Amino acid sequence: MKRKITRSVRVGSLTLGGGARILIQSMTNSPAHDREGTISQIKALEEAGCDIVRFTVPDMETVSYIEYYKQNSRAALVADIHFDHRLAVACAEAGIDKIRINPGNIGGSEKVREVARACEKNRVPIRIGVNSGSLEKRLLEKFGGPTPQALAQSAVDQARVLEDFGFGDIVLSVKASNAAAMIEANRILSETTDYPLHLGVTEAGDAYMGAIKSAVGIGSLLCDGIGDTIRVSLSADVVKEVRAAKDILLACGLCQSGVDIISCPTCGRTKIDLISLAASLRERVEKAALDPGRLIRAAVMGCAVNGPGEAREADVGIAGGDGCALLFKKGEIIKKIPEDKIVDTLFGEIVKLCSENRKDV
Ligand code: SF4
Repeated sequence: MKRKITRSVRVGSLTLGGGARILIQSMTNSPAHDREGTISQIKALEEAGCDIVRFTVPDMETVSYIEYYKQNSRAALVADIHFDHRLAVACAEAGIDKIRINPGNIGGSEKVREVARACEKNRVPIRIGVNSGSLEKRLLEKFGGPTPQALAQSAVDQARVLEDFGFGDIVLSVKASNAAAMIEANRILSETTDYPLHLGVTEAGDAYMGAIKSAVGIGSLLCDGIGDTIRVSLSADVVKEVRAAKDILLACGLCQSGVDIISCPTCGRTKIDLISLAASLRERVEKAALDPGRLIRAAVMGCAVNGPGEAREADVGIAGGDGCALLFKKGEIIKKIPEDKIVDTLFGEIVKLCSENRKDV
């Protein structure tokens, strides 16, 4: 897949854009003044594989937590700021890795200039986050509503405000709850700017529907080579956002390390309890949080019609028989295994492949 090469921006120790690895983001939902609850979430998110964690900064008290969060976490940290430019300036001075603002609601060009100056001085990039629910009135009137064109125009206009102050460490995001609108808006932005793009479907829904909308919105753009960082927004445990983001990258072929479990939908030929077996294997793999250092494909197939073919293509796999299965590894039949040993055997083979790969590296 050919990716659009954008400008690169440093976010803490990470590179965002410029063809770098696509970074996964999420946002804490602990109360803003619950310092311990927030650091616990930041740690849980980074353990799940989150690169960048955002949290809300509504007042100076929460600015004072930044040092503590920085000292106790590895993830790059982003302060989410609305309305009060002094908070953005204070966050930049306090060592935050990035801020997210909407210059349109910061209150006048002198205030935006102060934010740009503080961010320039402290090498803090700014994400301009445009949402369909908070578009400027003049753009709503001009475009007749929060259309993809209006979203893209808002981001471009706001980037210009920062550019006018000589500030260029900008990341753009245009989000809508409608995946098709968000796709279109990002396509326009990708054609008209070279700023790195943060992709997300906002207010996407619960863990199931939100993941589907995000997979459609974010995944379509990623498959077109658009996007430098992604955030899946779910009305669910924040760690689920990171899992969904990783799975979207996996499905788009953009995952450098992980376990891709392929399984057939079952049919009248299936003679093993494949649905439970595939679910158990996935649960074991997720729980183990394996990091193989490359993509490993494991196939759980129901029968000998398509099974052996898929299983052979995979690093490891099974093709089910009647209460048993044939185990394949790297294209070779290894042995026949009883049904009650399928999950243990496949999981053991996956773990072996992970350690073999780590030795090769
Ligand atoms: S692999 Fe076999 S059992 Fe699975 S859906 Fe295909 S034909 Fe049916």
